[in-house]
Amino acid sequence: MSEVQPSFRIKRKAALSPAEYVEGILSGNRTVLSRAITLVESQRAEHQAIAEEVVSACIRHSGKSIRIGITGVPGVGKSTFIEAFGLSLIEAGRRVAVLAIDPTSQKSKGSILGDKTRMEKLATHEHAFIRPSPSSGSLGGIAPKTREAMLLCEAAGYNAILVETVGVGQSEIAVHSMTDFFLLLMLAGAGDELQGIKRGIMEMADLIAINKADGANRDKARLAQQEYQHALHFFPPHPNGWRPRTLTCSALTGEGIVEIREVIFEFEKKMSKNGWIERQRTEQASYWLRQALEHELLSRFYASEQVKAKLPELDAAVRKGEISPLRAAKALLKLLPQ
Ligand code: GDP
Repeated sequence: MSEVQPSFRIKRKAALSPAEYVEGILSGNRTVLSRAITLVESQRAEHQAIAEEVVSACIRHSGKSIRIGITGVPGVGKSTFIEAFGLSLIEAGRRVAVLAIDPTSQKSKGSILGDKTRMEKLATHEHAFIRPSPSSGSLGGIAPKTREAMLLCEAAGYNAILVETVGVGQSEIAVHSMTDFFLLLMLAGAGDELQGIKRGIMEMADLIAINKADGANRDKARLAQQEYQHALHFFPPHPNGWRPRTLTCSALTGEGIVEIREVIFEFEKKMSKNGWIERQRTEQASYWLRQALEHELLSRFYASEQVKAKLPELDAAVRKGEISPLRAAKALLKLLPQ
């Protein structure tokens, strides 16, 4: 036992106080930033307590960035695109943090950003920070953590935040609700249905980029771009005055990447000037308060011993039609301490 104790003690000593985390983050220390995000993602109450303190202290140093949501179905080229686009942002003098929300990663063992081989240059660049999606829990559990990780990255000096997600529905709404600009990556000739892209997701897009516009695919991509541009005319105008754009690009050759960057910079300039980014972020903060409340209430409900004991019985009664679902729900809610 005495042999393991010294290393244990060293490890314990390395545990940082909230103030040390904050200091490390504000000085741009990536290791400390990484460890702080691990605390944010942790399920353990003592970790969450420290994380809350750290995030609260960092919040007033956050916000000085453009927050970009990126989505598209698996295979559209998101990882390849983020590598090229991230490097192009760095070329323009930005510091880039890449985060992800992938509620499916539990099943597919962290597919999204898990495999960094397509982002090798970006991953090792001193001005980039890449963090895969938290791999456990539901979207309701993951998304708020990614949002807090984003605030910590901003406090650490990253001024372009990319939040990636897969094109599978709800997770887009979460990403859209924490970013300023929403970029939808598409392929030519795959058909909207095939790409699983719902009208609602297209409606959220500030820019649709048709990727893989290279080689024999170039003309098809241009055609698709025109079609999408046409389709976008039928959507209601955005209240901020921005007209969604369409572009083609090749994440592989780098063609069109700078144009995408410049469209986003134009958006950032206009929407900072007219105050939209700030107003939108205020609305988003309020939205996340409500999300957090719902998530917290639900977690407490299902964690309650009384609920756990009574739920199967009432569930069975509801299934048999002996009691209405609403009545059963009210009976269960009464079991919670008021
Ligand atoms: P993700 O699943 O959306 O992250 O897509 P990946 O970045 O993993 O890319 C899927 C495949 O498409 C890989 O084989 C890439 O090399 C390829 N790919 C990505 N972007 C392009 C592109 O612009 N042109 C071509 N020709 N292939 C690409």
